[in-house]
Amino acid sequence: MPDKSFNAFKIAQEQFDKVADYLGLDQATRDLLRNPLREYHFLIPVRMDDGSVKVFQGFRVQHNDARGPAKGGVRFHPQETIDTVKALAMWMTWKCSVVDIPLGGGKGGVVCDPHNLSEREQENLCRGWVRQVAYNIGPYLDVPAPDVMTSGQHMVWMMDEFEKIHNGRFPGVITGKPQGMGGSLGRTEATGYGVVYVLREALSEMGIDIRKTKAAFQGFGNVSRHAVELYSQYGGVPLCVSCWDQEEQKAFTYLKEDGIDLQELLKITNRFGEIDKDEARKLGYEVLPGDAWIEQDVDILVPAALEHQITGENASRISPRVKIVVEGANGPTTPDADLILQERGIFVIPDFLANAGGVTCSYFEQVQCNMNYFWTKDEVLSKLDTKMTEAYLQVSALARERKLYMRDAAYVIAIQRVVEACKWRGWI
Ligand code: GLU
Repeated sequence: MPDKSFNAFKIAQEQFDKVADYLGLDQATRDLLRNPLREYHFLIPVRMDDGSVKVFQGFRVQHNDARGPAKGGVRFHPQETIDTVKALAMWMTWKCSVVDIPLGGGKGGVVCDPHNLSEREQENLCRGWVRQVAYNIGPYLDVPAPDVMTSGQHMVWMMDEFEKIHNGRFPGVITGKPQGMGGSLGRTEATGYGVVYVLREALSEMGIDIRKTKAAFQGFGNVSRHAVELYSQYGGVPLCVSCWDQEEQKAFTYLKEDGIDLQELLKITNRFGEIDKDEARKLGYEVLPGDAWIEQDVDILVPAALEHQITGENASRISPRVKIVVEGANGPTTPDADLILQERGIFVIPDFLANAGGVTCSYFEQVQCNMNYFWTKDEVLSKLDTKMTEAYLQVSALARERKLYMRDAAYVIAIQRVVEACKWRGWI
C-alpha cells in the first residue's frame, strides 16, 4: 500500500516540470498544465442495508479539456486521496494526447472498499456519486469510465442515474459499459491487449522474438489478465502473476516455471479476483511473497496493478536479464526508480502510452454510441492495434532521434499537442 510520503501528484508534476524545462514552456502554460482546471470534492450519503447512513468522500477532477471532453475512470479504493486522483487526471490528459484521440483528462474516485459493500450499497454509492456531479459530467463535457475496483455494472448504474436526472438516453456519458448497454466489443480486452501491442513493437524494434521471451506480471485485474492472454497467444511465456489476497491483506506471486495458465487460474479465482492459494499449490504453482514478481529471471516486467510499485528501494532487485518494463498500471515507477532503469539501459514503455488501449477503446465506444452503430470485435481490435502501434512508433522514433528516455519522449509529444490546443483556444 502507498506509504504516507508518496504523493502521486508531486511525481506527475515533477515529470511535467522536467519536460516543460526541456520544451522551454512559458510560466502561464506551466501554471495552466501543472494543475487541474477543475476539481470537485463532495460527500455521498448512502443508505446501508442495515438502515444506517454512511457518508463517503467522492472526487472528480478535470485536469484539461482543451483537446476535447475530459475522460477518465472512477476508482473505488480505501486509500484514495485527492492527490492521487489529481495525478491520474493529469496522466489521462497526456494519455489521450499521446494516442491522439480528441479527449482531455479527468479522473474520479470514492474512498471506499467495495469488498465490504453489498451490491445494493454499491449501486447507491454509484448513483450518489453521479448526483453530485450530474451537471459537471456529460457526453460533451466529461466522460467517466471504469478504473480500479469499478466495473461495467457500476457504469450502467451511473449512466442510469444521469439519464434520470437529464431525462433522456445518453449512452455517450460513460464508457466501459457492458455489451447491449452501449458497450463496445473489445473494451474489456483493450487495455491489456494494448500493453502487448506496444510490447510487440518494442521487441520487434530490438530484434527479439517474442516466443523466446519470459515475462513477470504484477496484478491480476482486467489489465494484467488480458495482457497475459495476448502475450501467451503471441507465444511468450508468462512466468508469474501477483494477486491481492483480501483475507491476508497482502499480495502473493503465483509462479510456474513453464508458464502460468490463465484459464486454469481463473477457475480458482473468486468474484473479487483473488486466487485461491491452496488450489493454486495443488495445481503446481509456487506461491511466493507479493513482491517476488520483480526479482524473477525474465526479459519483461509488466507492472499492471497500482501506482508506486517500482521504487528506489526495490529497483536494484530487478534481474540483469530484464530488457523491457511495460507499465500496464498508472504511475507504477517512481522518479528515483526511473533513474535506475535509465542507467541500467532498461527500455521503459511508459504508463500513459502503454496502457492507453483502454481509453482508446473508450473513445471508440463513445463514437459508436453517438452513431448508434456498433462495430465487430475484429474491427475494434484492429483499429486499436493501428492506434497503439502508430503512437508507439512516433514516441520511439522521437526518443531515438533526440536521445530521450521513452517517458520523456512520450511527454514531449503529449504536452506539445495539449499546448497547441490551449493556444488555438486562446487560453495561453
Ligand atoms: N481507467 C482507464 C485509464 O486509466 C480508462 C479510462 C477511460 O476509458 O476513460 O486509462
